[in-house]
This record gives sequence, C-alpha cells and structure tokens, in this order.
Amino acid sequence: MVFMKIIDAHSHIDYITHKFQDDVVGTVCCTTKESEWNKLVELMGRDKNIYGAFGIHPWFIDTVKDGWEKRLECLLKTNRDYMVGEIGLDKYKPDISKQIDVFQKQFDMAIRLHRTVFLHCVGAWDKILHVLKQYKQSDLPIIVLHDFNANNEVLAQLLLYKNMYFSFGKNVLYGRFRRIEEIPMDKILVESDSDKNIILKDIIDKTSKNESVIYNNTLKVLHNE
Ligand SMILES: [Zn+2]
Repeated sequence: MVFMKIIDAHSHIDYITHKFQDDVVGTVCCTTKESEWNKLVELMGRDKNIYGAFGIHPWFIDTVKDGWEKRLECLLKTNRDYMVGEIGLDKYKPDISKQIDVFQKQFDMAIRLHRTVFLHCVGAWDKILHVLKQYKQSDLPIIVLHDFNANNEVLAQLLLYKNMYFSFGKNVLYGRFRRIEEIPMDKILVESDSDKNIILKDIIDKTSKNESVIYNNTLKVLHNE
C-alpha cells in the first residue's frame, strides 16, 4: 500500500462539517469575520484534524467592531498553534484603504506572535509587496498564498522570500495559473477553498504529482518550522 495523506490547506467553517474526501486527513479552516472565531474554536475542540486560522477577510472589513484587534490578539495568545487568516487585499472589493489598515494590523500581529499567515490577494500584489518590503525577510512569518495566481514579474519577486508557500486550488485546476514548474516542489500546498467540486487529488496531479511531499510541506507550515 502506498502511503497517501492530504491536508487541505484552505477551507472555511461551512465546509468542515462535511466528511473529508478520500486520503484527506485534515484541513486548515480560515475564519472570515469575528463572529466565526468562537465557532472555529469549538470545532477544533471536537476534531484535532482541524487547524485554525483566525482573522478578518478583506471582503468583510465592514463587520469589524471597536476593539477587534485586542480581541484577536487575546484569542491568538490562548493557543500557540492558532494561525492568522484569512487576511489580505482584494482590488475588486470596496474601501482598499480600510482593507490595507485591517490587513496591516493583522499582519503585524502575526509577526509579533510568530504565527503562520494565510493570505488572500486579488489584483493587489503591488500593495502586498509594498507591505512585505517594510520588513526584514528574517522577521517575516510563514506566508501561505491562497489559490495562488500572479504574473511572472510578481512571481519572481515572491520567490525571493524563503518563507513563502504557494497554495493551489481553483486557479490551477481551471488552467488560470500554468507556471507550476517554476514553483519549487517544497513550497507547494493544495486546497479546496470549501468548494466541494474540487478534488484535492486532481490538484496534486496538476502540481507536484507527489502527495507525500505536499503533505510534508503542509506539516511544516502547520508546525511553523
Ligand atoms: Zn478562502
């Protein structure tokens, strides 16, 4: 028997109550707003194969209430394994300046507390790269680029960061990102993003074709190594 194990590197609360696909032994669950934080803590208490990332997604910045940063920091400090996500920037959603503010606060927090970050970026790589350049590379946390897609120029810059992981889902499956061979094997993760039509084995076939390498990459991210 060949050893087969997959950890889904990106899903959401609605999805993890469903049965895992064959070979899927765990999932990273990202919150999108504060009202999901406690639910995720509860789900993690029931299933040790759920790995939690806590934060405010750029689509939901209008849900933030006074004091959210303090509450997020307190929550993260209750458990060393809690990660930060889903955070980031989306050019096609409202109020990019507030998005940057909410993103930057969470990113700073992740750096301060040494937590892995799950990053959402659509059409805003210039701004993300600008934020990254404000830090010394050695200070940056592990960053997982969710459903990765970017042009060659951006990819070249991102590859300079050794803590960067590329998580592949829809964009690879549907042929929107085709330069997989440029990504080092030890930086590849796979994800469903809560889409039940995404079969993680199909994504593995389109990426490294090596399930155990991807599994070990995911463990490194989860253990913050
Ligand atoms: Zn997501």
